[in-house]
Amino acid sequence: MQFSQNFLDELTARCDIADVVGSYVNLTPKGGNQFGLCPFHNEKTPSFSVNTGKQIYYCFGCHKGGGVINFIMEVENLSFPEAVEFLAKRAGMEVPQNDRRDESAERQRKRLLQLNREAARWYYEVLLSEEGKAVRDYLEKRRISRKVAVNFGMGAAPNAWDRLLQEMTRRGYSKQELLAAGLIVANKNGGFYDKFRNRLMLPVLDHRGEVVGFGSRVIDNSEPKYMNTTETPVYHKRQVLYGLHLAKKTKRPNIILCEGNLDVVTLHQAGFDNAVASMGTALTVEQTRLLSRYTRELVLCYDNDGAGQQATERALQLLNNSEFTVKVLKLPNRMVDGQPKKQDADDFIKNHGAAAFENLLNGSGSGIEFRMAQIAGQFDLTDDRGKVEYTAAITPVLAALSGAVERDVYAVRAAEAAGISPEAMKAEVERARKKLGYQQKKQRERRELNPTLSVQPTQRGLRYSNPRSAMAEEGLIRLLHLDATIFGDTPPLKQEEFSNELLGRIFFLLWEYRSSPHPLNSLAGQLSGDEMSHLTAILQKPESTANAQKAMADYIATIKHEVEKRTVGEVDPLVQAMERNKAKKGYGGK
Ligand SMILES: [Zn+2]
Repeated sequence: MQFSQNFLDELTARCDIADVVGSYVNLTPKGGNQFGLCPFHNEKTPSFSVNTGKQIYYCFGCHKGGGVINFIMEVENLSFPEAVEFLAKRAGMEVPQNDRRDESAERQRKRLLQLNREAARWYYEVLLSEEGKAVRDYLEKRRISRKVAVNFGMGAAPNAWDRLLQEMTRRGYSKQELLAAGLIVANKNGGFYDKFRNRLMLPVLDHRGEVVGFGSRVIDNSEPKYMNTTETPVYHKRQVLYGLHLAKKTKRPNIILCEGNLDVVTLHQAGFDNAVASMGTALTVEQTRLLSRYTRELVLCYDNDGAGQQATERALQLLNNSEFTVKVLKLPNRMVDGQPKKQDADDFIKNHGAAAFENLLNGSGSGIEFRMAQIAGQFDLTDDRGKVEYTAAITPVLAALSGAVERDVYAVRAAEAAGISPEAMKAEVERARKKLGYQQKKQRERRELNPTLSVQPTQRGLRYSNPRSAMAEEGLIRLLHLDATIFGDTPPLKQEEFSNELLGRIFFLLWEYRSSPHPLNSLAGQLSGDEMSHLTAILQKPESTANAQKAMADYIATIKHEVEKRTVGEVDPLVQAMERNKAKKGYGGK
């Protein structure tokens, strides 16, 4: 706990959740709650809800949830103390300095960012020195200008084992810190050496402009060709896009996603200051969330080889039904000695120039066109059987399009490709659409009918080993959150009596802050994002206080009974069967 409860209560009283969320999301009232488009996943119909009574938000689509502090942590990508400061500033409150205890994690973060910044600065100095000549030559060979190199803060790692290690320890950084930042590596004998040696260094800045890590490339033929910082307390590759700190200032209407860091560099140099790259990963939801702050249109520009096609396909799936308009920029092959040769964005611009790329950019087709062309490529459309197979493959893709006009337009185009009548293709698409709706409905029903499936947490990595006890534990948590006064002065259970570790932990944290009107905000610093989302999912379910005493007694009895069963071990099969029967009728009518 870094802040006093008084301070947090005062802060949350001044930061109404609907107000705060409302400055990021357009909210409209619906059935007692307020709904809007989720800022955490891509969607077209609102499943993001804000409950002002409970002062919580919860998304029924991606299952993220929490209180107002959590919301700011998630949406602004801040730590707990940073989010508290952010909200305090918004509410015009002073953060009491002596109120901040245990800042060690925050202090470490700041130290690592400072270390990264100094390392980047040092690599840059090396680049300008005698030792940097090989890397300078390499940049020249790739025709990367001095200006662009400086803009991207490029540097050179010297061809030596421990120059950075020596330099940074001299400046007062410990080996532990260098290790934590991923700048050095331990050898088998307990010694350390620089991770990056004899390489072009590409500092990775996050959207706020902090150096969070490094990408690098060899300048000779050694392996690995590209090497990035591994995960550190300040570098999470799923949440970073190379070049975004520059691309976010672009005046162009879209953002180009390409594969490699050097593609980004070449594109910026050619005047496409809207290029970014995901670093060594397929596009992630976290990255699309970041992008949605700056643009509504994405252009996928991956290499035109097999891996690039796959990356395009995966990105399209991720962006399917998102609020982004997605285009695919197709890089043509280059004819060399009568043979087609694959080229990436970097090659293309070098070979054909910026104007040619601009043409490609303007003419890039929509995501659906890319997929249609890809599917068409798999069949021989001069042959009747090929036409039938193509139609079977293309209809589910078209049926999944949510706009009726879009479905119509592309059905006509698919009909042309297959050489069948547009009416026949449209009929096929509508049939596939009905089937899709039916399948989705079935899936929903199956989930609702299967109680053990539906009680399982939706958060990844969480599972109830004893659903019956866990349901009672959830109920107890809801009651404690709704009205702590029905509980006496001592907790009704011991923490180890909870069948689920997380539920036990949550219950006792809530117990600690039970006098707070909105205890979730005190918990925001102590639960992970997933844990907080899970807690919000629990609080989201209905619970009445009308018969709270009775419900509480029932929940406690169930949990104790399950504890007994666990300690006694084997239970009579007949009793088990009866239990199952009871469970089927639904626990407590929830
Ligand atoms: Zn969501």
